[in-house]
Amino acid sequence: MAVYHDQMVVLKSRAYRDHDVILTLFGRTSGKVGAIAKGVRRPKSKLAGQVSPLTFSVVTLYHGRSSLDTVTEADLQRGFPRIADDLERLGWAMVLADVVDQLWPEREPSEESFVVLLSALDALHEGRAAASVGLAAGFRFLRIAGFSPDWDACGACQRPPQKGPVTVDLENGSVYCADCRAHTPAVAERISLGSLRSLQYWLKDHPNKYGQAEVKGSMKEELKRLFFRYVLHETARPLKSYEFLANVDRLSSGPEGGEKIDH
Ligand SMILES: [Zn+2]
Repeated sequence: MAVYHDQMVVLKSRAYRDHDVILTLFGRTSGKVGAIAKGVRRPKSKLAGQVSPLTFSVVTLYHGRSSLDTVTEADLQRGFPRIADDLERLGWAMVLADVVDQLWPEREPSEESFVVLLSALDALHEGRAAASVGLAAGFRFLRIAGFSPDWDACGACQRPPQKGPVTVDLENGSVYCADCRAHTPAVAERISLGSLRSLQYWLKDHPNKYGQAEVKGSMKEELKRLFFRYVLHETARPLKSYEFLANVDRLSSGPEGGEKIDH
């Protein structure tokens, strides 16, 4: 039984009993932690503003015998208020919180993921290209969690793909160049060479650069499709935030159609 402090992002919050909330937190050194914050829903709670979803705080917790820790104090570092100004930004922030929640078991620290998440929230708050930020961070999470092919070499001939389309085998975690197309797997996505290059770039890029280069048009759409198929394949249940983001995209594409997400 012990008291500890950590830098933490609030991934989720749900109401509990009359005045409490149960939080899913992601800490720099403690990993994903479930915690109860008591009295947060009382009007005069000092904790309330410090532990809202998608905020970053230094949190003091008590770890006892229960599987849930108890938040005793929280000191808000960044609230990212401009994320909520734009539905696409909000949608991607929710997707990233969902992905971290789904991919990591409790109390398994990943400082790299923490830095990626915090940098992505900063970039979304700054108003950088939301889908580019979300995809760069999202594919990085998949790689850190071990769900990622070697994007740099064809799984058959071992050479770096030099022309598209490139086939991504989700089942076996391989990428096949255009010359090795005979290896077309059952669970596959095709992406252009340009999309593969963006992906390779994002995985090497420092997280504080996310969204400075924007992917658009068909590359954006095929990378989104690949990302959500990958997440679904690895977690075996759809992200709740995906539907939110898909609705935002439908609204923004308007009656003229534009690019549509698969139904
Ligand atoms: Zn090949």
